[in-house]
Amino acid sequence: MLSAILFLFLLALIFIWQSGKQRREAGLPGGRVIYSDTQNWGKVEKPLYYAPLKLTGKPDYLVRQNGDIIPIEVKSGRTPKSPYDSHIFQLASYCLLVEKIYGKRPPYGIIHYNERDYAIDYSPELEFALMELLADMRRDERKNEVNRSHEHAGRCISCGFRNLCDQSLA
Ligand code: SF4
Repeated sequence: MLSAILFLFLLALIFIWQSGKQRREAGLPGGRVIYSDTQNWGKVEKPLYYAPLKLTGKPDYLVRQNGDIIPIEVKSGRTPKSPYDSHIFQLASYCLLVEKIYGKRPPYGIIHYNERDYAIDYSPELEFALMELLADMRRDERKNEVNRSHEHAGRCISCGFRNLCDQSLA
């Protein structure tokens, strides 16, 4: 259990560290604004887990739309002009988990901010960028130290790992 928690922690940490670099290289989609009826959203009680990639995660909601299962991640705080890279990668990992566990690839996932929702297409390009990120993470897991990948103090201020991170800018 402890190792699973540690892995989740590491996963979140490295998503934040790596996402800036990865987005520049991959040209991630910015997402499109959509309206989504929250009444149909079903709360997810247990984390999804895919053993071959040792990947686990729990989207906030899943919703059935036209025979697809769409993961939804809810983000509190300020609504950005376009979704943050780390949020896109987190959602992509949920799309991957949904595909592996439910046997059908979601065409997109949704990031729900306070003021608007963004649909993020789960494209082959995004999946490829995610797989590269996961491979980077595996490599970084074996290193004693992983360096910060950005110079934005604001990201550190709102980061949940600030108190544990020795590279925080805030
Ligand atoms: S505190 Fe800053 S450097 Fe450390 S994990 Fe968070 S965002 Fe990255």
